[in-house]
Amino acid sequence: MILIEHAVVITMDAERRIYRDGSVLVDGRDILQVGRADDVRPPGPPDRVIDGRNRLVLPGFVNTHVHLSEHVNRGVLADEIPVDRYMADWLLPLYSAITPEEEAYSARLACLEMIRTGTTTFCEAGTLFDVAAVADAVEETGMRAVLGRWTWDPAGHDGRMNMATDDVLRVNDELIASLKGRAGGRIGAWPLLIGFGTCSEALIRGAHALAEKHGTGWGMMHFASHPSRKTADTIPLDTFDEWGVLGPRTKLTHMVYVGGDDIVRLARRRVKVVHCPTAGLKHTKGLFERGKFPEMLRHGISVSLGGDSGNGSNHFDMLRLMHLVALIYKDARLDTRIMPPETVLEMATIHGAAALGLEDTIGSLEPGKRADLVTYDLDVPEWRPLLDPVNNLVYAATGASVRTVLIDGRVVLDDGRITTLDETDVYRRIETLSRQQIARAHLHMAPRWPVVS
Ligand SMILES: [Zn+2]
Repeated sequence: MILIEHAVVITMDAERRIYRDGSVLVDGRDILQVGRADDVRPPGPPDRVIDGRNRLVLPGFVNTHVHLSEHVNRGVLADEIPVDRYMADWLLPLYSAITPEEEAYSARLACLEMIRTGTTTFCEAGTLFDVAAVADAVEETGMRAVLGRWTWDPAGHDGRMNMATDDVLRVNDELIASLKGRAGGRIGAWPLLIGFGTCSEALIRGAHALAEKHGTGWGMMHFASHPSRKTADTIPLDTFDEWGVLGPRTKLTHMVYVGGDDIVRLARRRVKVVHCPTAGLKHTKGLFERGKFPEMLRHGISVSLGGDSGNGSNHFDMLRLMHLVALIYKDARLDTRIMPPETVLEMATIHGAAALGLEDTIGSLEPGKRADLVTYDLDVPEWRPLLDPVNNLVYAATGASVRTVLIDGRVVLDDGRITTLDETDVYRRIETLSRQQIARAHLHMAPRWPVVS
């Protein structure tokens, strides 16, 4: 048993209770008790007591759209490259050239960043090749995850990047079966389609059928994404609905180009939407002008947050995503009441859990849920004065104040120290692997300013 006592505890329970002097008792992988420090009573002596004075405890964030394999080449896409050339000229050569070792180290780096910034669960974007190697790496880090293989079925089959529809569905079927229950249920896989107009009707129907068969969700990862027809999925949402593939287990990412009818349809079908604010802004998707995420939330749609990729948003710090989401739509509508910090925190926790079908397991600190929780150091400038903890969290804090992280009851970050893997080895190795991969893809990136060695 681990007892965290005398902390500020934001529970995210149904009543959204915040305890000024609270405690959390963890037994194995589950939360046993949460409440006022005086009311939390361990049945026996805890194995460990964490002093929570000057600490805030929060459920771990859920990042619902991440490309693990782009962290190895993070930042390679220069601002001069036109958005509609990203895929053809840069991302496809990089993905085509990636090795299992590069994918595994890229995943380790991405997981380290997520843990150190308070994220405990993520959903991959469906762009992995060697999922077995990545699953090993993710299991090693201790994170909770939904993984997915590179899944599209364009013409010109080469057996790796481009597969025939039946083959890509078979590979997904086998993958989902092979990862079911992995790491005590912490890791699994879904059919996750790339989107971008590269998936046939048969593949989309097939992915939905696979999700039904395995009792998982499924996702279309880049939908209604960009004004450029080259990077937008052109299938209208009502066509999806006619195919019978919209439902509570459907997760659609980006969703910038939706109309009022679409919002009503998404709400009726209880589709889960993922908003990627940093990638949306950096890739000029038109969030200020077109983003309807406040309206989706008002219609009761579950909208969670995605960090996207090492070349889309370039970081996975959920607090930085939350900060943007809290601000973008206030300015766009000239209304400070839009997207209050409480709503944004729900997107990063409760809605994230719901998007992955894990609403009964994670997303809040309640007895019976898994112990996925994060402590923040309050004795840093951005947390003081602590008048309203949610206000400080969303408007002032960054992931740098994360001190301790528990996932499934296991301490994976212990007062600033990663316990599950050799962090320094990852940083050293990634420098070498990054340069090797970029060279193998015949790409070149040069800083604009002279870098003197
Ligand atoms: Zn993406």
